[in-house]
Amino acid sequence: MEMTGLQIFKYLPAAKKEEHLNCKECGCPTCMAFALKLAKQNIDIEKCPHAKEELKELYSHSIKHPQKTIEIKGLKIGGENVLYRHEKTFINPTTLAVIIDCNNSNYKEQIKRVDNFEIKGVNQMFGVDLIILKNYSNKELPTLKVNTITLEEYEKLEILNIKNSDFKTTKEILISTREKAIIEKDDNFSNPVAVWMGANDKFTISAQASFYICKYANMLIFEEFDEAMFATLISLRQNIYTDPQKPLQVESNLYEFKEPKENSIIFLTTNFALTFFAVANELENIDVPSYLIVIPADGMSVLTAWSAEKFTANIVSKTIDKLQIREKLTTRKIIIPGLLAHMTDELKEAVPDFEFIVGTHEATAIREFVKNLTANKL
Ligand code: SF4
Repeated sequence: MEMTGLQIFKYLPAAKKEEHLNCKECGCPTCMAFALKLAKQNIDIEKCPHAKEELKELYSHSIKHPQKTIEIKGLKIGGENVLYRHEKTFINPTTLAVIIDCNNSNYKEQIKRVDNFEIKGVNQMFGVDLIILKNYSNKELPTLKVNTITLEEYEKLEILNIKNSDFKTTKEILISTREKAIIEKDDNFSNPVAVWMGANDKFTISAQASFYICKYANMLIFEEFDEAMFATLISLRQNIYTDPQKPLQVESNLYEFKEPKENSIIFLTTNFALTFFAVANELENIDVPSYLIVIPADGMSVLTAWSAEKFTANIVSKTIDKLQIREKLTTRKIIIPGLLAHMTDELKEAVPDFEFIVGTHEATAIREFVKNLTANKL
């Protein structure tokens, strides 16, 4: 674990009431300021000429990266620093690799199938991360979307491979290896770990792979490729590897639903992914064509963004300018989230050429709202 500022401070002259306390020789006003900077690794420990060897040893051990990062053509494997995501975050999602034997007569079709597989996530496309070619004799690797290496190249990597091992043993190796790397920072266990999934029925492979993604495989290598299984594992992996400190967000933009015309109705919301998809889903499923203006609000939901001043009349005005709403559309009415009804006056003041209509509190009420809106020809 990395040392906190307070833990570092305890070893400095100010905490021990020793000579040189708060002497400023390090360039910081106090020993505490130095300790806080050091904890964030924003200063070199050698800047304090009075730091004792005991502190230097503890500190260098604490900042040592417990697990190595392996890189294959930009694909990063390993490099994890914590046992549990809530302690900080996990860094590099478990690599999902498929090994293809080029001695098989249909290997080219297999490669094509793996390379073509993709699923859409929030602002991102996902697919297989790595193809490992076994018995590949050509000099040049095929040009594919998916990162590709030969088995010979793979075998040169500093990766701990778990092969031909049952679930219980694999689980124990994965957990003890990660604990030794993170807690003890033992160099003998610092290599990323790959599990070879072997041959089994799809249900068993899916169940085992799900566990290994959670604890603590850096890579899974599959002999069989199955689209449904990979889609499921990728969804699980996204849940585990999403940084809990960063809300999921979509791009601030003007989104279109059902081929709208320049006079179609306009909705407005924040760029928090869950809010966006709740609204977008409703707009996709009503018969009335529409637009959706998405405000850049650091991925916060409507009320949170408003209270954090990320959803202000000024930001709405700037977004309307930036997205060139006046130039693109003739509609001059914008439906705002019902939770922001109190903002109508300030919005009118900031954007006087638009009318702001208070919409619904919940996305599920949009269908009924639009029905009333069109009936009243608003
Ligand atoms: Fe404290 Fe060392 Fe900085 Fe002096 S040089 S203020 S002793 S941290």
